[in-house]
Parts: sequence; structure tokens; C-alpha cells
Amino acid sequence: MNIGQYSFDDFVDEVRKFHGSVAPGIIAGGIMVDIARQNLPEGEFFDVICESAKCLPDAVQLLTPCTIGNGWLRIINTTRYAITMYNKYTGEGIRVYLDADNLADWPDIKNWFFRLKPKHEQSLESILKSFHDAGQSIYATQKVQISPEFLAGTRKKHRAITICPSCNEAYSADLGELCPACQGKLPYTSTG
Ligand SMILES: [Zn+2]
Repeated sequence: MNIGQYSFDDFVDEVRKFHGSVAPGIIAGGIMVDIARQNLPEGEFFDVICESAKCLPDAVQLLTPCTIGNGWLRIINTTRYAITMYNKYTGEGIRVYLDADNLADWPDIKNWFFRLKPKHEQSLESILKSFHDAGQSIYATQKVQISPEFLAGTRKKHRAITICPSCNEAYSADLGELCPACQGKLPYTSTG
């Protein structure tokens, strides 16, 4: 089986290079991206929502033009293992998720997905083989319509920029009288 433009094994190599290790979740994510694309009209511009911050965003960034940085990929962290790809203008899209009901025949995937065994007791090789052999059979899809206020054109409001009176750095003025850092929303203090 292929994942995107890669053979399964080549995709595993790409994941190692990009992510730093071969995370099974990115292999699953790659298969989910393929399923989403097969269910969308060709040649359309789409945006992506990942419902998990782990692994799935890296699959999307490896296989599509959508990245966190260009804003075409956004994470709404419900922690569900799902991606939604949708037409960025009409909001029509497809949600793909790993369906736990389909894992009865795939104990290695089940152990990995539900963290039933400590990581060192799981065999990466077996998990990857299971994902390969299961192919697209363990996922499910649903059609979705993205809310209008979330779509391209409506969400890109130009935010006024102002200088924070506390740190003297520029930030989006609509976030308050002080920048979020000076409101205490950062996990560090200045040490020089
Ligand atoms: Zn500040």
C-alpha cells in the first residue's frame, strides 16, 4: 500500500526524519489523510482540522500543503483521533477517525491506541505491520459542514497591533491592556 506519494516503507522513513522517531500515530494519520483526499473532489483548496495535537498534525504537514504556520492546518484538541479536511470556501468536508469498533482483529493496534501496555512491551514492528495490513479498514468517515465563521475570508480579521506598556513589545491589541505574557500566560520568568 502507498501513503500519499510514498510507499509504506518510504513514508516510515519520512516520518523518522521529520518527527525524530517512527510514531505509529503518524502512520495512521497518513492513511487518514489518504482516505480524506479520496473523499474530496480533486483540485479543490482545502483546510484541515486535527482533533489531536499529537502525531496527526505531522502526518498532515508531511502529506499536504497545510501547515500550522500557513494557517491551513489548525488543531482543535478534543483528543479524539480524527482529522477533518474541508473546502476552505464552502466548508464542505470529510471527517476521518480511527474507529475503535474495528480493532477487534488488530490487538497490536488496540494495545497501542488505548495504551493497554507499557510502550517498552509493545513491538513497533508489529504495530507498523498491523497498520500496513489493516490498510484503510479500521477507519470511518462522516461528512461535515464547517461553520461559516470558521472559513477562509471570514476568520482573517486584521488585528490592530499595539505596544504593551509593561514589556514594550508589540502584540495584538484585542488581547487586553497588557500582552498575554505580561498577563502571566507564559511558563517562564525572565532570568536575564
Ligand atoms: Zn507585555
